[in-house]
Amino acid sequence: MNLEELYSYAKKFGFVFPSAEIYGGFSGFYDFGPLGVELKRNIESLLWKRFVTQKNFVVGIDGSIITHPEVWNASGHTKNFSDPVLKCEKCGARFKADSFIEDLNNGPVEDITEFVNSHDLKCPNCGGSLKFTGRANLMFETVVGTKDKSYLRPETAQLIFINFKQVLNSFKINVPFGIAQLGKSFRNEISPRDFLFRLREFNQFEIEFFVDPEEANNCPYFDGIKDKSIQILTREAQKEGGKAKTVKLKDLQDRATKWHLYWLWEFYSFFVELGIKPENLRLREHLEDELAHYAKACFDIEYKFPFGWKEIHGCAYRSDFDLKQHQSFSKTKMEVFEQAKNKRYIPHVIEPSQGIERAFLAFMFEAIEDDRLKLSKELSPIKVAILPVFNREPFLEIADKLFKEITNKGYSSMIDVRGPFVKRYDYHNKIGTYLTLTLDYQSLEDGSFVIRLRDKDEFIRTKDINQIFEMLS
Ligand code: ATP
Repeated sequence: MNLEELYSYAKKFGFVFPSAEIYGGFSGFYDFGPLGVELKRNIESLLWKRFVTQKNFVVGIDGSIITHPEVWNASGHTKNFSDPVLKCEKCGARFKADSFIEDLNNGPVEDITEFVNSHDLKCPNCGGSLKFTGRANLMFETVVGTKDKSYLRPETAQLIFINFKQVLNSFKINVPFGIAQLGKSFRNEISPRDFLFRLREFNQFEIEFFVDPEEANNCPYFDGIKDKSIQILTREAQKEGGKAKTVKLKDLQDRATKWHLYWLWEFYSFFVELGIKPENLRLREHLEDELAHYAKACFDIEYKFPFGWKEIHGCAYRSDFDLKQHQSFSKTKMEVFEQAKNKRYIPHVIEPSQGIERAFLAFMFEAIEDDRLKLSKELSPIKVAILPVFNREPFLEIADKLFKEITNKGYSSMIDVRGPFVKRYDYHNKIGTYLTLTLDYQSLEDGSFVIRLRDKDEFIRTKDINQIFEMLS
C-alpha cells in the first residue's frame, strides 16, 4: 500500500481525518477519529508504561506548551531552529531543502549549498527552477496577554531541562536518572507532507537521561544486550554510497557510549516487540555535519516506508549543553552534588526523542496486509468486538453484560450490530480488531459464545470469559 492509499484507508475507516476538511483542510494538521485516537493512545500509554512506569530510574513531568520566551533564547531555538528553503522561481512553492535533496540523493549530503549550486533543481509541481533562499525559522509565535511575544514549544525537551532542578530537589532522585515528557510540539514546517510524517502540530515522547560524564559507559544493562544484533547505516557507508549492515551492539562502542546504545536498543525493541520486522528498521548514524557542535553522537531509528527509509526516532548524546545554557541564562545552578563521590558537576544528557505520529504511521504500514490490519493486540484499537447475530433482546442483554465485564478489565470493546452480520468479520479484520465474539442461538440456550482471533480464522466456542482475558494478557 502506498502513502495515498494508506491515507484514504485511514480516512475511510475513521483513523485520521484532515483537520478542518469542511473548510478545505489545513496543511500540516490532522485530527484523529474514533479508531485513530485509540491507536494513538495505545502507542502513548505503551511508551509511558515501558519507559516511565517500568523504569525505576525514570520519572515523568508535564510542562506547559506556551513557554517563557527566555527558554528558547537559552536553548538557541529563536536564533537557530530553522530549515533551509528552496523556492520555485515560477510557482513560488517552497520546499525544505535538506529533505528535498536527501530524497534526490537517496541520503543526506554533507554540503547542501554546494549540492544546490552544482545541480539544476526543478520544482516537482511545475518544473520551474528551484533556488536556495536562505533559512526559515520554525517557531510558532504567539502573544501572551496583550503584548508579550512567546512561542509554542517546538519540542518537549526544553521543559525537562528547565524543570531539572525542581525534580531533583523535590523528588530526591540520584544520577543517573531520566525525566520523560509526552505531549504536543509545534513546528511551522516549510512544506508539511507525507500525511502524518511531517506535521505542524504533533506529539513527542522525549526522555532526558542525566548521567555523570565519567559514567556514560557504566551502564549495568549493557552486558545483557551487548550481543544483540541491529542493522546500521554507518557514517562511512553513507559517504561511500554503501549499504546498512547488521552488527552486534558491542561492535558500536567506538561510536556511542554504553548508555547511549542502551537507549537506542530499548526503543528499537519497543518497535520490534510491537510487530515491526527487524528488516524494516535500521539505525542511521548522523554525519559529522549534521551534528550540533555540542553533540557527541546522534543516531536515528529509521523505518522503511514505501516512500523511503525515514526517521521515526532520534537519539542524541547532547553533553551538558542545555543545562549549561539554562544555567547561564537563568543564573540558576544546574549542578548536582554526589555525596558518595564528593563530586559536583553538571550531568551529561542522552536524549531519546520519539514522534508519536511517525510511530503511528510506521505501525499502520507494517500491519496492513491485503484485507486486514494486523496490529498487535497491544496496539489494536478495539480489543474485543461483540457481535450479536440479531439486533434485539435477549442477544443485546447478553452482549451488554459481556461488554461491561470486558471494559471493566480495561480492554476496549464495542457491541457491533451495524449492517448485515456476514460483513462484520471482514470489517473488523480491516480495522484491526483483535478478537470478535459472536452471540448466536446457542448462546441463548447455554450462555456460550464464539471467539474468533483476527489472524487465525479459528473459532472457539466457550462459556468462560477468562479465556478472552488470557488471550489478551
Ligand atoms: P526531520 O529531520 O525529519 O525534520 P528532526 O531531526 O528535526 O526531524 P527531531 O527534532 O529529532 O526531528 O525530533 C524528534 C522526533 O520528533 C522525530 O524523530 C520525529 O519522530 C518527530 N518529529 C519531528 N518533527 C516532526 C514533524 N514535523 N512531524 C511529525 N513528527 C515530527
